[in-house]
Amino acid sequence: MDFNFTENQKAIQASVRDFAQQHILPNRMVWDESQHMPRELFREMGAMGLMGLLVPETYGGAGLGYFEYKIVIEEIAQVCGSIGLSVAAHNSLCTNHILMFGSEDQKQRFLPSLASGEHLGAWGLTEANTGSDAMRMQCTASRDESRKGWVMNGTKNWITHGISAEIAVVLARTGDLLDSRGITAFVVRREQAGFTGGKKENKLGMRSSETAEMVFTDCFIPDDQVLGTVGEGFVQAMKILDGGRISIASLSLGIAKGALKTARDYSLEREQFGQPIGRFQAIGFKLADMHTTIEAADLLTLKACSLKEQGLPVTKVSAMAKYEASEVCVKVATEGVQIFGGYGYTKDFPAEKYYRDSKLCTIGEGTSEIQKIVIARELIREE
Ligand SMILES: Cc1cc2nc3c(=O)[nH]c(=O)nc-3n(C[C@H](O)[C@H](O)[C@H](O)COP(=O)(O)OP(=O)(O)OC[C@H]3O[C@@H](n4cnc5c(N)ncnc54)[C@H](O)[C@@H]3O)c2cc1C
Repeated sequence: MDFNFTENQKAIQASVRDFAQQHILPNRMVWDESQHMPRELFREMGAMGLMGLLVPETYGGAGLGYFEYKIVIEEIAQVCGSIGLSVAAHNSLCTNHILMFGSEDQKQRFLPSLASGEHLGAWGLTEANTGSDAMRMQCTASRDESRKGWVMNGTKNWITHGISAEIAVVLARTGDLLDSRGITAFVVRREQAGFTGGKKENKLGMRSSETAEMVFTDCFIPDDQVLGTVGEGFVQAMKILDGGRISIASLSLGIAKGALKTARDYSLEREQFGQPIGRFQAIGFKLADMHTTIEAADLLTLKACSLKEQGLPVTKVSAMAKYEASEVCVKVATEGVQIFGGYGYTKDFPAEKYYRDSKLCTIGEGTSEIQKIVIARELIREE
């Protein structure tokens, strides 16, 4: 949807679309099949400003806002959900956490290399037994007064770039279990002793976005790598997820738009009973539903971007955008396979990849059920 985009926004859209067609499209299935995350591609995207989208130019970023951010994630995801997910996680989770809550010194130390794509970022909240219920996390950071720092122990699971990231923002327990003020956010460098990558997941979709464990064994983290105040980490994480939900909504819209386009084009080429299948009302109605629901989810996402840009409360609307766009994405990708018929079930056509990739969107950064809990809670609070 070209929602009154400025000339600059249209130019960004065109250049990312062009890049994705040239550098991602020809390789996406090879990367997907081999679960290869193309590290070099992120450096190329860094040179284009795509790895520091929201980072001000003073720290080496592109200094853009949420509308441009949405445009970029969507354009990449139209071609490959995996690369879209990695760009989203790098920008809106790790990098944005340092941008929002880091000290001036931390911003100067960590943001330029993340924004250039020289370093890849990860964000560790989830653990094996604590996904939706993150407050019960077991990963601890104990005070070491003599060394003026913290000693981290535990494992974070399902982390995007868990093995490859050079810089990670990690949430760990520094206080009592279930105390919302008992969690602190730390920046950890890959080279720090006691920080290693663990098991890499073999996934249904998003296969060229690395998902892996981050393991901490007596990992010493100096005080100058604490983000914000000790005990503020959980509150920070919830604020980061407010923006992160716009990412996953944009990712969902991109995958859905890609699935719709390929299904529409195929429906005009494929003939059965002497005519293109797109001329059958049954297929036309599917396309109409796919298009309409995508546009509606797009408007919700644009509303979330607008609130975020104005600095207004966005929790409810970003949860609504994420919930709606991700559910639409799964439905659209499923109908995409149906329109392709048997060919949609093979790896010779992109419909099956959109279908596999789509499902992550209703799970990552808060499941659909959790989004509904957030929406209901906010709605009741408003009354
Ligand atoms: C590809 C991928 C990338 C990821 N990247 C990251 C990352 O970079 N960083 C990170 O920290 N995490 C990451 N995650 C983790 C992700 O955020 C979690 O998987 C997600 O939050 C769900 O947690 P869970 O998997 O433990 O599911 P669970 O919390 O165990 O949920 C299982 C089911 O129970 C439901 N459920 C749980 N609680 C409730 C409730 N109160 N009411 C109703 N239903 C409920 C859920 O909706 C779900 O259907 C990633 C996950 C994937 C798959």
